[in-house]
Amino acid sequence: MSAVAIEPDWLVPVDSQEVPRGVLVVDSGKIEFVGPTLPQRFASLPKFRLPGIVILPGLVNSHCHLEFSDLAQPIRATGSFTQWLSDVIALRQSQHQGASEESLLESRRKAIQAGMRESWLGGVRFVVDMVTGPWSQRWVEEGNVACLESLSPLARKTFVPNVALTVLPCVELIDVNRTRGNQTDLLATQLLKEPVGPAVEKLGLAPHAPYTASMATIQRAAMRANTEDRLMCMHLAETQEELDWLQDRSGPFASMLEPFVDQAFLSRVGTINSHIQLMSHAWRALVIHGNYLSKQELISLSRYQDHVGVVYCPRTHSTFQHQHHPAGKWNDAIPFMLGTDSRASNPDLSVWEEICWASNVMFSLSPQQIALMATTIPARFLQVESQAGALRAGCFARLTAVDLSKSRLYPSTGSGSRADSVGGNSSDLSFPAMLSDSAIKAVSSLELWETMLDNGVICPLESLACFQRH
Ligand SMILES: [Zn+2]
Repeated sequence: MSAVAIEPDWLVPVDSQEVPRGVLVVDSGKIEFVGPTLPQRFASLPKFRLPGIVILPGLVNSHCHLEFSDLAQPIRATGSFTQWLSDVIALRQSQHQGASEESLLESRRKAIQAGMRESWLGGVRFVVDMVTGPWSQRWVEEGNVACLESLSPLARKTFVPNVALTVLPCVELIDVNRTRGNQTDLLATQLLKEPVGPAVEKLGLAPHAPYTASMATIQRAAMRANTEDRLMCMHLAETQEELDWLQDRSGPFASMLEPFVDQAFLSRVGTINSHIQLMSHAWRALVIHGNYLSKQELISLSRYQDHVGVVYCPRTHSTFQHQHHPAGKWNDAIPFMLGTDSRASNPDLSVWEEICWASNVMFSLSPQQIALMATTIPARFLQVESQAGALRAGCFARLTAVDLSKSRLYPSTGSGSRADSVGGNSSDLSFPAMLSDSAIKAVSSLELWETMLDNGVICPLESLACFQRH
């Protein structure tokens, strides 16, 4: 038996009221109980008091390209999206050029696994990843093993007996010309026929964007996503340049695409609304970005709110200085979720940093409403609540710890008073900062959220130092 009772200063399920000085019981990777006091039947369990710690659900990253996770810094956005995109394509080509098959596979494996580890360390437990070839499920399974290796036997047995982080890969589809279309078909056929392992969710389909995927490809993907209950994702209405090109094939996209596209592709380009209509046939569909959706298109999307959502990538959105994102105004009508996008446009893969950033630029929504976009909303939308995004009995214990012991809520952390270290560093053995139960209960919900956003230090719950000493 590996059950433990955990008593943090706060339990924050996000979709319901915070529980100050509550109790969480975890056994063999599952949450057995969440509540204000420990029921008698659990009284004999080993107890872990976690002063200064808030426990949140595991975070969900609804849009990412893990293959770029080896980039030390984002590719600079100079103001032109097409220039940035050309730079990304050039980078990918330079990685492929001259590289042996073996070294290409190795560098891609390393990048994906680095992204998985970075995500996990940042409290992310479920990632929707855009996938290009070559790609292997085995890399995801190995990436999981690497995350778990750093944990003590107790931490592993109690919290994560098998999977630290689930990846939902969506195969990127591009058919700007016949050769590219054939490559795309081959990759999709090959990846979609493989049975999925424990760390991989059923694969989805991702026609890349309206300027790289034809209506024929999008339609086929939507039909397949319908009959096989798959997720479909597509970058859509991301930039003004994209809208210009869709309208009359003008603007910077025209010259950028010219060397690649063939006539067959150009004769099968749709409108934003025609893409939305096609996507609505999928089991579930995610419009990625949607920065420039018109009112009419947003109304269209709201009709499909039970199975079509929009992913907002806050820091990437700001990098390109797009107009205000519709998430602020349309939050009640459309399911919005948060994504990091890739390290090609973002400095890291922290969904928590996206929540913090969005809270600073989207004043119409509370921090809690924004946090829902990285927990409850995507977890329910993708029907993966048992895996991540929920802090509830019966769900997996893939949870996020937020260390507030060095925040303004706690007594000054001078010598002799400090926070318990996180991330496995247990060299500091002095006492953690403490608040009395009544002081904890006196903190308002807003103050708690603001302190978390300003000073919270995030890690997976099982990596806290106290669980590594056993
Ligand atoms: Zn993207």
